Amino acid sequence: MVQERPTLEKIMASKTKKAKASAALVAEKSEEAMIAGILEGSPDGIGVVVVRLECGCRKMAAVAKDGEPASKVIIYRDQAESICDKCKADNGDFMRVTETFIHWVQPEPTEEEKEIISVKVLGTTPRTN
Ligand SMILES: [Zn+2]
Repeated sequence: MVQERPTLEKIMASKTKKAKASAALVAEKSEEAMIAGILEGSPDGIGVVVVRLECGCRKMAAVAKDGEPASKVIIYRDQAESICDKCKADNGDFMRVTETFIHWVQPEPTEEEKEIISVKVLGTTPRTN
């Protein structure tokens, strides 16, 4: 049975004006632990897309070199046993996304590769200047 693999862009639905995609954003300590866990289970992952929702929940998924998902999308809430009721209802709708960025695995890809992947995943080019 072939399962359709939606693009990360669709899953993360981060193409929103509200969401800031920036190379300046870095993972918080609590997020780092989750990122490490995701990468452990995703050997193809060269980075993890981190989506911060206004409710405090987080969405993450590993991304492969070609910009395709390298893991399932994980949604969780720090310090909580389950995600909030809003997220249970809308699965972390993009309308409620506040920040999105990619945490790159060290050594990081080249700037060119990062840009290609960022555009594919986030629908925008991070600004670093
Ligand atoms: Zn939530």
